[in-house]
Amino acid sequence: MIGAGVFGAWTAWSLLRKGKRVLLVDARGPANARASSGGESRLTRTSYGADEVYTRLALESLPDWKWLSESADLPVFHRLGVLFIFAGMVPYAAGTLEVHQRLGLPLETLDRAHLTRRFPQFRWDDIDLGLWEPDFGALMSRRGVQTLVTRFVAAGGEYRLTEVAVPRAAAPEADSVDELVATGQRLEAAQYVFACGPWLPTLFPDLLGPRMFVTRQEVFFFAPPPGDARFGPAAMPGWVDFNDGDMFYGTPDIEGRGVKIARDKHGAPMDPDAGDRLASVDALADVRAYMERRFPALARQPLNESRVCQYENTSSGDFLIDRHPRWRNVWLVGGGSGHGFKHGPAVGRYAAQLVTGERAALEPRFSLAAKGERQRRAVH
Ligand SMILES: Cc1cc2nc3c(=O)[nH]c(=O)nc-3n(C[C@H](O)[C@H](O)[C@H](O)COP(=O)(O)OP(=O)(O)OC[C@H]3O[C@@H](n4cnc5c(N)ncnc54)[C@H](O)[C@@H]3O)c2cc1C
Repeated sequence: MIGAGVFGAWTAWSLLRKGKRVLLVDARGPANARASSGGESRLTRTSYGADEVYTRLALESLPDWKWLSESADLPVFHRLGVLFIFAGMVPYAAGTLEVHQRLGLPLETLDRAHLTRRFPQFRWDDIDLGLWEPDFGALMSRRGVQTLVTRFVAAGGEYRLTEVAVPRAAAPEADSVDELVATGQRLEAAQYVFACGPWLPTLFPDLLGPRMFVTRQEVFFFAPPPGDARFGPAAMPGWVDFNDGDMFYGTPDIEGRGVKIARDKHGAPMDPDAGDRLASVDALADVRAYMERRFPALARQPLNESRVCQYENTSSGDFLIDRHPRWRNVWLVGGGSGHGFKHGPAVGRYAAQLVTGERAALEPRFSLAAKGERQRRAVH
């Protein structure tokens, strides 16, 4: 198992639970600061418009996150509730409602008067609809993945810090890979699962170079006004402002880090290994302009910290979970596309079933064949 981000760690865990011998390796450490799974927190939600497949994956994953959270020293899951907000009943909102009704999932519809009463920290004058998911919230990302890797090792899995080189077969016509070359060692296994997030295009340049789009994303944490409880986790939910598909999202001041606000729009192409991670003045100004509109009491509050991360987008935003087209013992797991974290447990289960041969039929949307070379984002 190569890559100890959220996808690799949960896949390793699922394989171990099936009685397999699993070696999990990572070049930089589980949920390290350059990985897509690094950083403080991620939202988990079932609102996905009409994309029921992701509603289901998020739902299937929540019990595993709760289990991990209960077994950890500090919480991995904060049940804040998640609020999606819209200018009106746009197709994404209607699709979300339809899927939740069909699956019997709790989802409350809130009008502007209700929103104004219940969430006074937001400005509501351009919003007519809120969709409220009471059971979801925020996952502590770095803590979650690192806790899971600790559990994996305690349960008999092996973890090693090493960098795997670009995989090669012994001969051009070979249909499998015999061994991997890694820092100071060679690794031999029956199956190799690559869950290398934004490094997948580097490891498989011909195959994934044209099919994965790694983008720079910036996240900001602002100091709430001292003594103001409106921005704490007891009063403020996780939230997503749909904003015509150009979403802003954030969390309350969890664990004293600050109120998190970010724009989900894809940034410039990014090499995950290159350069310092200093947030840009432009992105900060953009978020502050948004805060002026949505959170007037926060707009002039100081910045506590910022983070630069990357999305590893596929053409549509659908995940990639498939066998390598030439090598039958090599598997590709990735393409989280800015929304993968919450689904880690379900993705891990799915990937483990593929690798062990328990599941033959692929969800067509996760296949390599469905991945185009032009970005047409369809999943939000
Ligand atoms: C700013 C931001 C906000 C996000 N918000 C959300 C959210 O609110 N909700 C949500 O569900 N998702 C969210 N996501 C998406 C989610 O975090 C990612 O989809 C997910 O973390 C991807 O995990 P991964 O395991 O595929 O990749 P990674 O976490 O990047 O893990 C890949 C690992 O592979 C290792 N590796 C790479 N190459 C090698 C090699 N050659 N040898 C050994 N190891 C190697 C790396 O060191 C790394 O640890 C967000 C992402 C970002 C960046």
